[in-house]
Amino acid sequence: MKLVIIGGVAGGASAAARARRLSEDAEIVLFERGPDVSFANCGLPYYVGGTIAQREKLLVTTAERLHARFNLDVRTRSSVEAIDRAAKKVRVRDLASGREYEESYDKLILAPGAMPIKPPIPGIDLPGIFALRNLQDVDQIKARIDQGVKQAIVVGAGFIGLELVENLVRRGVGTTLVELQDQVLPPLDKEMTTPIVEKLAAKGVTVLLGQSAVGFEQTAGGLIVRLKSGQQLPAQLVIMGVGVRPENKLAVESGLEVGPRGGIRVNDHLLTSDPDIYAVGDAIEVVDYVFGEPTQVPLAGPANRQGRIAADNVFGRSSSYRGTQGTAVVGVFEITAAMTGASEKALQRAKRPYRKIYIHPANHAGYYPGAEGMVLKLLFHPETGRIFGAQAVGGAGVDKRIDVLAVAIQAGMTVFDLEEMELAYAPQYGSAKDPINMAGFVAAGMLRGDHPQIDLEAVLAAPPDEQSLLVDVRTPQEFCQGHIPGALNIPVDELRSRLGELPRQGQIVVYCQVGQRGYLATRILQQSGFSVKNIGGGYKTYRLW
Ligand code: FAD
Repeated sequence: MKLVIIGGVAGGASAAARARRLSEDAEIVLFERGPDVSFANCGLPYYVGGTIAQREKLLVTTAERLHARFNLDVRTRSSVEAIDRAAKKVRVRDLASGREYEESYDKLILAPGAMPIKPPIPGIDLPGIFALRNLQDVDQIKARIDQGVKQAIVVGAGFIGLELVENLVRRGVGTTLVELQDQVLPPLDKEMTTPIVEKLAAKGVTVLLGQSAVGFEQTAGGLIVRLKSGQQLPAQLVIMGVGVRPENKLAVESGLEVGPRGGIRVNDHLLTSDPDIYAVGDAIEVVDYVFGEPTQVPLAGPANRQGRIAADNVFGRSSSYRGTQGTAVVGVFEITAAMTGASEKALQRAKRPYRKIYIHPANHAGYYPGAEGMVLKLLFHPETGRIFGAQAVGGAGVDKRIDVLAVAIQAGMTVFDLEEMELAYAPQYGSAKDPINMAGFVAAGMLRGDHPQIDLEAVLAAPPDEQSLLVDVRTPQEFCQGHIPGALNIPVDELRSRLGELPRQGQIVVYCQVGQRGYLATRILQQSGFSVKNIGGGYKTYRLW
């Protein structure tokens, strides 16, 4: 068996190592266009900022080490230029010498990744404008900063854009973030990104939402970035982080099927439309785990796992890829934002029925010093309670809760299962009722009808003649510090003795700080014959809007 692999980083290197573990006899040739294999793309922003101080730490392994340990024939600076499917050969250009040659294969794995999107904006090729994909890019960006950059502009507020903003600020560079959409981190729902925007502002970052770069000009003092609004921003460094596009040239030119967004089409064994060619990583179209529809999700975890699966199938083990949930996490200064599965806007786009809850728990017991808060949003089926997606933003413990929920989604669990989850607890790590259990209690209570809730949007959007009486059940001190306009303040501890102040006709909507006292208020009022609903997540959720 002669296996040829194109692309030597996340998916390609994983496939190669797995292939060798499965077969000592196979001839395995790995082509990588760049000078490095298996480098840590995900660490690049932190090398810009200096948290990762040594460049060599970004090299997870080298061609030499891959050869020594796995007996792989690794050829760096070798670009595969074409695939001849009929003859089962690839044409390779040795970039050092310019020499071209052919290499035959029995099986081929494509792992060419995705390239940064370069929008056709006038001036985009000017010096000082970069995208970040590999070590060569990061070397240039670092060199530019070392020459002295006062102002930088990052275009695109996705995961990589935000990581770059943080690291530029760490380097003392004044940074402006420009984003086309009306929110940062577009995969998340907008209200969940409010803490991130507040944190960016607190760190001195100028965030321009609903804005796009329409032109770049070189002046004596550096670059000028022209925005759609007409604003002109001076900068010595611009980094474009507006997304990636699958590297599908080889696939397209050799007639392999690709999807509408350019991802190489594969089946669940990661086999392309050619029975001898597999494809993995950012270059492929995957099945969305929740919706069951084709999508593209460029993430390192899926790429690595897909590499293993493709190698399994090459060597006769029938391994399947289950689809991608889009479980992702990003740090923005002291804030962590993470998500898994479907967002609310994706559910709305797909016209799927859903319900949602918000909770605002601490990462561990409040009485133990150092507890950090978070907001956790859970989306689920309105009848079965099956979990569709979750997002969390806050301090410590966000990643752990999203990981647990990612497993729950993959296991097909419901909100009722979350009530029963047994999770590790000691006061410095969690709570006896973990945020995961709390989310289960709130969501399951809602579905059982014990805890009637109303979404904040419905309250805010109600026309004046249909508005419910709004009762804030927090303390007068909390009420004075800020409340939803028009609310009446009756603290929950006084509610039983002040029922006479409330109308028996029409619906009452209650809220508290995070939803818990509001829940108690609904129990009191419901059992006294009132029609009542609680605003899930309370005033803290209102503050996100
Ligand atoms: P890549 O890792 O991009 O590897 C593809 C390789 O193929 C490239 O080196 C390319 O040179 C080579 N190649 C392409 N065409 C040819 C050819 N014709 N001949 C020879 N070689 C070729 N994901 C996360 O999950 N978490 C993170 O925190 C995260 N952070 C990131 C930060 C940055 C700055 C970047 C750029 C990406 C980040 N990602 C992150 C995404 C993650 O790195 C990718 O999803 C993952 O690397 C994809 O793996 P891949 O094997 O498909 O492609």
